Amino acid sequence: KQARAADRTRQLGERIGVIRAFNQSEDQATKDALTGLLNRRSTEEAIQRLQRDGTRFCVVYADIDHFKRLNDTYGHETGDRALRLFSRVLTDSLRPSDVISRWGGEEFVMILPNTSAELAKPIIERLRLAISENTGLGAVPAVTASFGIAECGPSDDFAERLNEADAALLLAKQNGRNRIALAGSLL
Ligand code: GH3
Ligand code: MG
Ligand code: MG
Repeated sequence: KQARAADRTRQLGERIGVIRAFNQSEDQATKDALTGLLNRRSTEEAIQRLQRDGTRFCVVYADIDHFKRLNDTYGHETGDRALRLFSRVLTDSLRPSDVISRWGGEEFVMILPNTSAELAKPIIERLRLAISENTGLGAVPAVTASFGIAECGPSDDFAERLNEADAALLLAKQNGRNRIALAGSLL
């Protein structure tokens, strides 16, 4: 009887191991390894679902300011730590229903469902301040970022709206960085 109980325990243990391995490979497919944020592919899937459901949203394109300089000054490991902290501030500042992704390198795309640009602006302004408040202490040097905001409707071409947000981001950089700009169509 005892042998059967031991068998049972082992079987359960193996099953849990299988589940854990599965969850981990799910994570590896959907999440960015460094920051734990959604990766680009799973973000694109989330956007398709929102559009299919007829949801309007804001798209925010964020890019860390002078990140190359940070790497050159403090080293790549500190750069990585800055990326992780930056990602944590994004997650802590936004709502669970918002989609936060590492789009690539030091560039991030955030999707705020059911949020107009007018509403998104103060939210992203608070986020911008939270980044200043949470960096430059201890292990991570001061970090700032620039943001471009565009709106996207369910039948819009997301790639076009993202380009608009990217163009706004470029304006924010040109106007001195560490600031927010709205897409041309929203001005
Ligand atoms: P700007 O204010 O105009 O955005 O300047 P920038 O230096 O941030 O822009 P640039 O595109 O010239 O440099 C981006 C840097 O980000 C270069 C690249 O080495 C660094 N980077 C990209 N991915 C990673 C990463 O995973 N870890 C680290 N440490 N650095 C990264
Ligand atoms: Mg960049
Ligand atoms: Mg940058």
